[in-house]
Amino acid sequence: MDHTSAEFNPWLNAAKRFETAADRLHLDDGMRKILKTPAKELTVAIPVMLDDGRIEVFTGYRVQHSIARGPAKGGIRYAPDVSLDEVRALASWMTWKCAVVNLPYGGGKGGVICDPSILSDIELERITRRYTSEILDIIGPEKDIPAPDMNTNDRTMAWIMDTYSMHKRETTTGVVTGKPLDLGGSRGRPEATGRGCLYVTREALKQFGIPQTKARVVVQGFGNVGGMGARLMAKEGFKVVAIIETDGAVYNENGLDIEALLQHRKATGSILDFDGAQNLSREEALFLECDVLLPAAKENVITSETAPKINPKIVCEGANGPTTALADKILADRGIFVIPDILANAGGVTVSYFEWVQDRQGYFWNEKLVNERLEEIMVNSFYDVLRYSKEHKVENRTAAYMLALDRVAFAIKLRGIYA
Ligand code: GLU
Repeated sequence: MDHTSAEFNPWLNAAKRFETAADRLHLDDGMRKILKTPAKELTVAIPVMLDDGRIEVFTGYRVQHSIARGPAKGGIRYAPDVSLDEVRALASWMTWKCAVVNLPYGGGKGGVICDPSILSDIELERITRRYTSEILDIIGPEKDIPAPDMNTNDRTMAWIMDTYSMHKRETTTGVVTGKPLDLGGSRGRPEATGRGCLYVTREALKQFGIPQTKARVVVQGFGNVGGMGARLMAKEGFKVVAIIETDGAVYNENGLDIEALLQHRKATGSILDFDGAQNLSREEALFLECDVLLPAAKENVITSETAPKINPKIVCEGANGPTTALADKILADRGIFVIPDILANAGGVTVSYFEWVQDRQGYFWNEKLVNERLEEIMVNSFYDVLRYSKEHKVENRTAAYMLALDRVAFAIKLRGIYA
């Protein structure tokens, strides 16, 4: 991603939203300085022997934006375009996200600059283990708890858990979340972000009086969040009419068969040329008229250029930072109802929290209980944000930031400043 352009720099985008909310809350200068400055940033070199015998040195980051409300919490992503500014932004979004859904966590994020598509499993394992050992001193179940993010998964978390545990000389499952079920993972965690999107979208549709079975949904991204989100929504009777991926889009006005599309992608490596659907360009699909647009991949999809052309009633931000700050005003002027990322995709970290609680207790819940508790938190948080938005006459994103900033600022006031 091009972080050189100001519109596309996630850290600048995070700062803009922060300032807007801080102004509305009349936060004083000192509190603003504390809230916007990441508490800790670590950059590490990760030397790794590749399968062909060459040595490569990768760069990794772990940023703890805030630990005011509890240990830092947030995923680790592997991608060639990871940058410190991106990790900083993502870490701050975790702080606000955990505060919006009222979890006892601060916010953190990690990243390694690498291209997993050209690395073997064993190379990925070596990178993960060396990265973990480099950040070992700042992570821990009471300090900072990583989780999966883009291009990392339960297997990556198992390696992190194992590396940490080997150093500590005791199995410490609570150091990461998003682990395999047999290693202290939680039921419902893989689906949690998509499921959270489903719950808040359902409430947003009620605001428009649109029945679920009439809702036309366009999903951008078909990975963990988009794939699960589409699958769960289709199961609930939504009409998922288009899926957009990196190489193009597929469309069926009567609703796509998501299970079959997942199978098709597995078999062919692409969603394109799927029976019972028509191929579209990414732009054509993004600009379709629909009830719900679910951007569920990367940052900077709804921009000053695309925001005037999209046609949903509701945008549910499954991804982190899919909308640029410049696009916010365009969406507001067009009356598009935005469920902001720090609320919409909080289902993942919420079930991560459940996983951490279960690990600490050594007692595991069934899936029904996980989903019920997730639904309660997502629905309550949706209405908390909506109420805030009406009371303060601000759009949903600013309302969510205000709610979050207020909660974190309150924790800092209670704790005081240690000197
Ligand atoms: N990576 C996910 C997110 O951005 C989940 C983080 C977590 O579970 O800690 O929210």
